[in-house]
Amino acid sequence: MSDKCPSMISTRGKAPKTAFADVLLAGLAPDGGLYVPEFWPRFSHAEIANFKSRPYQDVVCEILSRFAGDSFSASEIATDVADAYAAFDDQRIAPLVEVEPGLYLLELFHGPTLAFKDVAMQLLGRMFARVLAKRGVRSTVICATSGDTGSAAIAALGGLPGIELFVLHPRGRVSEVQRRQMTTPPHANVHNIALEGTFDDAQSIVKELFSEADFARAVHLTAVNSINFARIAAQCVYYFTATAELGDAATFVVPTGNFGDVFAGEVAARMGLSVEKLVIATNANDILARTLRDGVYQPAAVQPSLSPSMDIQVASNFERALFEASGRNASWLVAAMETFARERTLTLPTDVLAALRSRYGASRCDDEETLATMTRIYARHGRIVDPHTAVALHAAQRLRDKETKPIVVLSTAHPAKFPEAVKAATGVFPIVPQALQGLAGKEERVTVLANDKALVRAHIEAKLASP
Ligand SMILES: *Cc1c(COP(=O)(O)O)cnc(C)c1O
Repeated sequence: MSDKCPSMISTRGKAPKTAFADVLLAGLAPDGGLYVPEFWPRFSHAEIANFKSRPYQDVVCEILSRFAGDSFSASEIATDVADAYAAFDDQRIAPLVEVEPGLYLLELFHGPTLAFKDVAMQLLGRMFARVLAKRGVRSTVICATSGDTGSAAIAALGGLPGIELFVLHPRGRVSEVQRRQMTTPPHANVHNIALEGTFDDAQSIVKELFSEADFARAVHLTAVNSINFARIAAQCVYYFTATAELGDAATFVVPTGNFGDVFAGEVAARMGLSVEKLVIATNANDILARTLRDGVYQPAAVQPSLSPSMDIQVASNFERALFEASGRNASWLVAAMETFARERTLTLPTDVLAALRSRYGASRCDDEETLATMTRIYARHGRIVDPHTAVALHAAQRLRDKETKPIVVLSTAHPAKFPEAVKAATGVFPIVPQALQGLAGKEERVTVLANDKALVRAHIEAKLASP
């Protein structure tokens, strides 16, 4: 078996060392930072090559046990992993599909809500319920969503005992399918809030509620957003399986919003995986592409786009990448985050910027280019892709000429979640998979609230008092 698992520490350096199970329940660290392992567990090249012929679930168990092995037994992990992926509609879980020589799609949308969030959330939900049951506690889970996290959380946590789930989405800024996926499940423990604001507004309300310590303690507040390290741990798995299958280091192009998925690629690399480059693919909300180009991290107004799950400016997980790029310099990071909170702009030191650039590339794709990419892929290959995948394919096409290594585009959603965009780009509607059939006829349950933290808190308290 492996050596000892790392404790979890905060990027801001002021939180006590914490066990994986506690990080699972806590989400954000008490000093406002994000949890990262004290050290990165390592796999040898031989171990990684060995992943090639194994079922996806086995690889999940191997990787997860390196992080969670002190909190969960091997058989507990194996049980939760088997359950988590049992309902996926492809036995390979994250199949790698060749589009043309050297260009691959890594399909991450085979879970119950047809977006990549399921890959981590289905597992997180089960481990979460296991810890709550062991400890005999109840928990209030709160989640801000730009579209897909909400339905993935509902699919993972809906109906589980000991959990009340509150999901905030920006009103009118998620697709109709995404909204119905969230508002139609019948579970009594699921509470949808449509916030009159943007995703960034929803995310900052969630962060503020966590910082109200009395409230957070009283209701056992927890986050399942991508700030939760357990999700990152589950997401780094497909970087390993894809690379093992290719037998070569790849450039991964990742449709990026909150920086969780692409950071999982950095985690894989730090655990010993050979990764050629990680390309951050953004839509018109291009703060991260601008940051890599100019060295200045500066949010603009959020622009609604055809790829709504990426309509984000301030990407929570970017803090983890900054922590690593600064050589884990927590005191620099605390100062930098304070500057950023005060001035809404942060100029990166040259060494931090150089470290980021050596690992990450970036590219931007507006709605017109997104549709053009969907049109081209359909015309050339007869393949329908969703707008998020198209944003990454646009970046990949531009890399094709200079890149000799395989290029793997993370395909993060099923096209049927975005039928209008597909129709506009290709002239046809995508085939509606079983999981989405009948959504239109079902009753929706949602409360509209103004963009006001106090109102959201009062609403949660009222619901918990009489669910
Ligand atoms: C959440 C999401 C993304 C962005 O992932 P991050 O981890 O937030 O960067 C991209 N595509 C789809 C379809 C998503 O649901």
